[in-house]
Parts: sequence; structure tokens; C-alpha cells
Amino acid sequence: MFQENNIIEKEDISLFNKEYSDSDQSFLDTLFLVPSPAFPLEKIGVSKAKKRQFESADITNTGDLVNYLPKKYIDYSSPRSPSTFLQGELCSVIGTVIFVKDTGKMVYANCVGSDGDRFMACWFNQPYIAHMLDIGAKYIFCGKVNIAPYGAIQIMPTEFSKDVDSLKRIVPKYKKIKGMSDEYLKNAINSGLELLDRRDHLTVEILKEFNLITKYDFFNKIHNPLSLTDIKRSMERYVFDRLFRFNFIMKKDMADFNRNSDFEIKNISIYKKVIEKLPYKLTPDQESCVKEILRKMQNKERVSGLIQGDVGSGKTIISFLLLVMSKDNNFQGALIAPTEVLAKQHYNDFVDLTDDLGIRSALLTGSTKTKEKNKILKELKNGEIDVVIGTHALIQDSVKYNNLGIVVIDEQHRFGVEQRSTLSNGDKKPHIIIMSATPIPRTLSMAIYGDSIEVFNIKTKPAGRKPVITKKVTNADEAYNFIHNEIKNGKQAYVICPLIDESKSEKMADVESVSEAVKDTKRYFKDFPNVKISSINGKMKQQEIEEEIKKFYNGETDILISTTIVEVGVNVPNASVILIKNSERFGLAQAHQLRGRVGRSEYQSYCLLLAKEGDPKAEILCSSSDGFVIAQEDLKMRGSGDFLGTKQSGYNEDINLMLSFPDLYQRISKLNEKIFENQQLLDFYSIFFKINKK
Ligand code: ADP
Ligand code: MG
Repeated sequence: MFQENNIIEKEDISLFNKEYSDSDQSFLDTLFLVPSPAFPLEKIGVSKAKKRQFESADITNTGDLVNYLPKKYIDYSSPRSPSTFLQGELCSVIGTVIFVKDTGKMVYANCVGSDGDRFMACWFNQPYIAHMLDIGAKYIFCGKVNIAPYGAIQIMPTEFSKDVDSLKRIVPKYKKIKGMSDEYLKNAINSGLELLDRRDHLTVEILKEFNLITKYDFFNKIHNPLSLTDIKRSMERYVFDRLFRFNFIMKKDMADFNRNSDFEIKNISIYKKVIEKLPYKLTPDQESCVKEILRKMQNKERVSGLIQGDVGSGKTIISFLLLVMSKDNNFQGALIAPTEVLAKQHYNDFVDLTDDLGIRSALLTGSTKTKEKNKILKELKNGEIDVVIGTHALIQDSVKYNNLGIVVIDEQHRFGVEQRSTLSNGDKKPHIIIMSATPIPRTLSMAIYGDSIEVFNIKTKPAGRKPVITKKVTNADEAYNFIHNEIKNGKQAYVICPLIDESKSEKMADVESVSEAVKDTKRYFKDFPNVKISSINGKMKQQEIEEEIKKFYNGETDILISTTIVEVGVNVPNASVILIKNSERFGLAQAHQLRGRVGRSEYQSYCLLLAKEGDPKAEILCSSSDGFVIAQEDLKMRGSGDFLGTKQSGYNEDINLMLSFPDLYQRISKLNEKIFENQQLLDFYSIFFKINKK
């Protein structure tokens, strides 16, 4: 694959260089702002078929449409000299056409650049182009560079024009929407932009104090930047808005937090029954965590807890022990998992543990059939179900509970800030327990949640677990060789690959990355037909994915190749090695999570990192397998302000941004303190953020 240059990744732009000086400006008392109106897509002429395509990308109105932000930009703004072309890069060049040749399959235009350098513009299968080019005329060409084996410098234009200034621009690239051309999407976005008005939810004082552009400018510049500065300025506004919202909601949540609970635990006899059924003894940390939470519940104190412990530290059973209390104490419990696979796994485990205790449980996910779903919804509403396990489908408005007393959210870093406040919006506030395998230090949890949340650390591991040995490998074959040896010993392996091109639709990026890894793995094992290679990708149906995982679980396949689909929770104890390809593309926390897929039995397990030379994260992963240490190191590497978290970092976007812009976050926190003292502003933003989910 060629390196593509001239692509502006958001990570490349450093934001907020300006020094902050404390401003003593007061707020304007008058606010005239309201959320920007969002119109139905029909208003900009979107057909029924196109509407469905938009809906597949969660775009249901013009507001969503303008919020569909570019993934990256291509810089055609300064045409280049052919002598500086790099293989595979995207760029623009100006040249005079001196000769045109049409071979039927290909059109060649020989050109001379402004500095006298020659190059060739080439088009495949577009013979009509030959008639569009005038000999002796000057054109601008934009496209991909190809240096042919015999040295000819070629450009494959996607666009060209005689009006050389017309194409000198920065082109935004969006994540593909299935079935829709880039051009259609771009035009639709521009139509959406025309409906924008100039209202802004930030006061002029805030805009000034934080040196921000207006929302109107933001949308126009981020979709149609004229310069790098435009991109930078619009991204600053974006980061501000995200962090402002995040901090505001957190503060509001804390301010509204009620320490008295409506749900009291009186009867804990079932706890002893479940403990007796367990094939193991709880670790000291597990036990003290459950006991402390139960003590609070018996005391009528409302629990808002964060249970954090490494993958495999045994958090699930803690949640089960709390959820089983619901039936005898007349309330309901819900467990929310980040993926369907995990929800199903939890549900099966829960049923195994509780089927003879009379607890009525149900599984509800996105793929639950309508009939079944309606039945569950009915039973949740009338209280016939005690415990429901599922994905975030559980916290949609359509789900009504009879008496929801405890909510457990597994792997919280995947969820946005919204979920927690959604849950506490009802009249009666349930106990909320968040479980996370990406531990955050106390300073950070304080910054996010203040003291409204109590942190429980699970540091002791279940007995008999050996830490995973992590090693760097220099090439894939070295890793396959190692994997082969483990397979000969009856073990199994994961091969994990990153999403390569995030500008593609997520599914396509996933499929591409996985199929490349499958090819490579098959190449190595071609002489060993006994080694069964399987793979899962984002294009497969949920059921197919589950089947592949099940086959792997049952030992029918030896190697499972995937992207991070297996990251959370998949439990195959016989897998003893995980290879992480391009491990530099994963955040520390996420790589550590992935590593947790192995080391789930008493066998020695291994994590192999195929990392770019000099990647500091690989060193850290090799030297520690303690999630608490990894989290500390992760935080140390952040805060430089030039890192706009990618998806693969392991934290959610808000936390990512907060970690990347700690100083700004502090200033925003101070700003919100002032807002909380001003009833008018407080009311305004409370409502604003409630009705505007973006
Ligand atoms: P995580 O904290 O990553 O969610 P799990 O709850 O999935 O970890 O636990 C990992 C494995 O450890 C499970 O198979 C579980 O049954 C087992 N386990 C949990 N607690 C103990 C314990 N105290 N002793 C032995 N095994 C345990
Ligand atoms: Mg877990």
C-alpha cells in the first residue's frame, strides 16, 4: 500500500496555541439563543430511497446532516511541481497539455509543468476525456500520483479544469454512506448548510473569552474550509463544544445527585444461596466491594459506584450478586453490556447461576425479534421480569420499567456521558454501578464525576492466573511461527488487526483489514491444512459472528482473526496467544483490553505486538500487565493537545478530548462554575443540552 501524503488528518493539527489569561468579563444577561432548527430531509429534496441511506448513517434531518463531519481533508490548495511528487500521494498540479493520446483503454495527456517538468495525466476507460483537452491550454489536475516503473510521473485526475484557481481548494472526505456517492452527500450537506441560521448557544462573552468562532462559521468552515486555519478554528470550536457539554452534564448530574435511595435492601438470604453455588471463592477485593455496596443499600444510601479492575479480575460476578437481590426486595435490575455478544454471554451465565432461584430474567438486544421484544417490554412494565440483561437498547425511551432499582453498566468507557444522566432522569433514582476494565486514577475520576461517585478497585486476581507475557515481534512470520507452536500444543490464537482506512464506512474498513490479515495468515499456514483459520468482520450478521465465536470457543477453529469486535468480554480460556498487528494504531488502554482476551486459564499466555519501530506504547505493554499502571502511563502520554483521539484509543470521545486538552478542560470547568451561579444561564443550558443530543 502506498503512503498517501497531502492528507490532513485531524490529529495533525495542533489546537489552542493561544495562552489563556484570566478574563474578568461578566456574562451577558440576555440570551437570545435557541437550538438551530433541524428540518426534514425532504425539505432539501432528498428522495425516499436516499432518505433510507441517510438513516442507515443515523442522519434523519438537516441538523444531523450538517453534523456529519468530515473524517479528513485532501489539500489541493497549493499546486505542486511534478519533481516533488511522491508515489501515491493526492495533490494538484498545473500544466500545459502538449500531446493527447487515446489507446481506447486509456487516455494520456503529456503536460509540461510551470517549472518545465514533464508529467502525464492519465484516465482509465474514459475515452471522452480526450475530446475535452485542448492542446496548448493550461489546466489544473487533482488526483493521485503514480510513478510508473520506468520512471514516468503520472497523475490520475479525479478532477481537472482550465480555470486553474477553481480547483485550488481543500476537499473534505466523509465516511462513506452505503449506496451514496461522495458528490451527492457533499451537495446534500451544502443544502443543509443553507438552512442554518446564525443563532449560537454560546454567549458572545464565551466566544470571546475562549477565542472561538461562531456555530454558523463552524459548520461552514468545517465542511468548506478555504485554508488550514479554517479547519483548525472549526476544530477548536468542536472540541470546546464537546467538553463544555460533557463538563456541564457531569456537573449537573452531581448537583442533582440525591444520596437517599428509594430502593432499600432488606432481605439478603439469596446472596448466601448464590455464593454457595459458585465453583470458587470470591477474592478479597470482590468480597469487600459487594459487601460495601450491599451495606449502603441496606442503609438506604443511594449507590453510584465505579467498579474498576483489569480484564479477568471478576467484575461480572459482583454485578450478578447485586442483581439477584432485586426479586426478594421488590425492585428490578438491569445489566447493560456494550455489545450483543457480551450481553448474550452475561445472560447465559446469569441464567445458569440463577435458574433454580425463581428469578425471572430476560435478554433484550437490538436483534431481539419484535414479537419477543414487545413481550419483554410488557413484562418489564408490569414487573413480571426481575432482571433484564441487554445492550443499550435497554435505556431507550420506549423501555419502561415497573420499579427499576439497580442498573449495572458494563465497560463504561464505551458509553457516552448521556447514558448516566438518562438513567437518573426518572422520578425514582436507581442505584447505578459502572464496571470498567480501563481503570482511571482517582484524580481523573474526581475530575469527571467529582465525589458523586465511589470507586471500587478490584486488584486481586482470581487465584491461579499467570500474567500474560507480552513480547514485541519484528515480522508477522515470527509471530505465526510462535502461534503455530501453541496450536501444536492444543492451544488457540487470536489475530487482531486495526481498521486501516477510517474514511471508508466502518464496515468496509473492517472487511478490508480482516481480509488482508486472513490472506497473510493463510499464506503462512498453507502447508498446514490442519490449522483451521476463521475470521469475523463487521459486515457479517450478528448471528454469523456469534457462530464463528462459538466455533472458536468449541475448539473447531484454531485461529480467530478480527478487528476489535472481540475486544470486550469474549471469553475463550483455551486461547493462549493474541497477536496484535500494527499495535501502534491502538491506544494503550485498548491494547491492554485486547491482551485480556488471553490469560483466562492456568496456562501461560502470550501477547505478541507487531509494532512500528520505536513505538513507546509497545515498551509499556511489554513491561507491565497491570491495568492500573497502564492507565497511569496512558495519561502521562496524553495532554499534549495535538491528539484528537481516534476510535481505537479505548476511551470514549469525551474522555479522550478531556485527556488531550486538560488545560482547556479546567477553564471550561471554571466557566461552568460561573454558569451554575447564574440561574438564567443554568436553566438555559440545562434545557439546551437536554433537547440537543449533539
Ligand atoms: P472481568 O472483570 O473482565 O469482567 P469476568 O467477570 O469475566 O472478568 O471474570 C473472568 C473469569 O474469572 C470468569 O470466567 C469468572 O467465572 C472467573 N472468576 C471470577 N471470580 C473468580 C474467583 N474469585 N475465583 C476464580 N475465578 C473467578
Ligand atoms: Mg467483563
